[in-house]
Amino acid sequence: MSKERLNLVPQGTKALMLANEAIARACLEAGVAVAATYPGTPSSEIGGYLESMSKHTGMYFEYSINEKVALEVGAAAAVSGLRSFVFFKHVGLNVASDPFMSLGYVGVRKGMVVLSADDPSMHSSQNEQDSRFYARLAGVPMIEPATPAEAKEMVHVGFEISEKLETPVLLRTSTRVNHARGIVELRALPNISRKGHFEKDPFRFVPVPAVARKGRIRQLECMKSALAISEESPLNFEIGDGSVGIIASGVAYTYAKEFIEDACILKLGFTWPLPEYKVKKFLRRFDRVIVFEELAPLVEEHVQRMAREEGCQTQVLGKLSGHLPMAFEYTPDTVLALREQISVKNMKKTPKFESIPLPTRPPVLCAGCPHRATFYAVKKALNGREAIFSTDIGCYTLGLNPPLNSADFLLCMGSSVGAAGGFAESTDQKVIAFIGDSTLFHSGIPGIINAVFNKHHFLLVVLDNGTTAMTGHQPHPGTGRSSPSPTTPVDIEMMLKGLGVHNIGTVDPYDLSATIQAIKTALDTDEFSAIISRRPCPLALMRRGKLERKAFIIDKSKCVRCRTCFTKFTCPALSWDGIDVSIISELCIGCGCCAQVCPKRAIEVSK
Ligand code: SF4
Ligand code: SF4
Repeated sequence: MSKERLNLVPQGTKALMLANEAIARACLEAGVAVAATYPGTPSSEIGGYLESMSKHTGMYFEYSINEKVALEVGAAAAVSGLRSFVFFKHVGLNVASDPFMSLGYVGVRKGMVVLSADDPSMHSSQNEQDSRFYARLAGVPMIEPATPAEAKEMVHVGFEISEKLETPVLLRTSTRVNHARGIVELRALPNISRKGHFEKDPFRFVPVPAVARKGRIRQLECMKSALAISEESPLNFEIGDGSVGIIASGVAYTYAKEFIEDACILKLGFTWPLPEYKVKKFLRRFDRVIVFEELAPLVEEHVQRMAREEGCQTQVLGKLSGHLPMAFEYTPDTVLALREQISVKNMKKTPKFESIPLPTRPPVLCAGCPHRATFYAVKKALNGREAIFSTDIGCYTLGLNPPLNSADFLLCMGSSVGAAGGFAESTDQKVIAFIGDSTLFHSGIPGIINAVFNKHHFLLVVLDNGTTAMTGHQPHPGTGRSSPSPTTPVDIEMMLKGLGVHNIGTVDPYDLSATIQAIKTALDTDEFSAIISRRPCPLALMRRGKLERKAFIIDKSKCVRCRTCFTKFTCPALSWDGIDVSIISELCIGCGCCAQVCPKRAIEVSK
């Protein structure tokens, strides 16, 4: 966001914004003094906007090492009298859940909003867990927007609720909200005071058992007050008229509003605690109520209970009744499943595209990606020997695809290292753990210490491309980039040495023979070893204008059409027309790896 756009005041100016941009803007309007995150799609862009905007305002913004630390940074600010905003994707809330569970007990002094972005249908995630359960588990209020405009306004409402109740508020979004664009209304930007003051109160903020017991009572009282606010909240409202009732929340509301006719919709924006009185009153008015929500039937279960408590005969339909799907995000077609229950508008089709048979295009590592070279080198070093590949979260998870086949097991961020220790102890197989540099800092380090401590023997390959590539090239402690000024980068080799790793090698994956040799040596070592495969992400270099491109071509007079380059190395810049392999010059970045793979040296730099 440009400085000009940042200053788009006066109040009331309208702008077309991505919801993530609108959320970032709302943070500035709300006077957030401290914001922290670990990047995760679908929330990543918020960090990009806040990072650039924080340079022009008094806000402190950081990319934390992981979500747990981000939450701790935000909580410290909020108990010191500063508004704070912490955000991540749904699985990040698992990492942050430890401090989050206690924060509801001790509470905050100034507003704190925690955004968790769910990813129904798992567009870029390993599961589609539902963050809403965390609000209930942690005993904190939760609000859920359905549009970019609501997302922006709910940031403000979240801070108001948080300050009124002295508790953090969970703002739950989902992919289709985070990545939608809409018209939003801008507010004036206040001056931000960067420094707070923490008044000690150990009998509130140090939850030893005696204090935590008081905190638990405080939390329960707080949720009672939250219920009263939820009952009166304008975030819960009715729209439409009809004989069937619909209760909808989050982006599911948008589908209901757009495609269902003759229904009265109770839109829930303040979804934890649920406005019981309002819902019960709504239930009594209808014979049939459909609950519209993505992921778990959380609202539906409560609505069923409320119907029973009210003794009303209202039929409650939704996921539990089998009328709506339990898995994956909603689409307009999801609404069609309700045709027998309610009138559904005719949906406009897009015949223009329907008749075009599109080829399937699985996600691939980019042309010139150093990870491809590392995986290729690992395969070569193994020379047909079997090994278990414990992989992690990042672009390099795409090593899963043939012919690289370099991913056998994955759970979550940082799991490759811990799991590799488990495999090393549980099997006699060679074990290789892959982890990216950012993920290493995020949560790979404890697994390394565990491996050293317990003498697990496996090879750790750090795929160091100098950035958090998958979410948009955010910095991490190894990059030396920080906000607002540069910082001393953490040296991975030195860090590993400090953790007690003795066998450490560093290679440039573009030098295939040296990489193969280093991996061979490490595999023959009978102790925990680490290879740092270091080469900057070419996409990040390209964005910074620092990529030195060379053009490679195939000399057809030397090429014997063995297709080794095409089938074994599989760079997407290589194409095969049925007879010849050629290099697509627009895609090739000139890494030169295919030239090293070719047995006939037929690939060379174009003169
Ligand atoms: S590996 Fe070399 S010889 Fe084989 S198809 Fe590719 S360019 Fe031709
Ligand atoms: S030089 Fe070869 S491997 Fe490297 S980007 Fe170009 S085509 Fe791909």
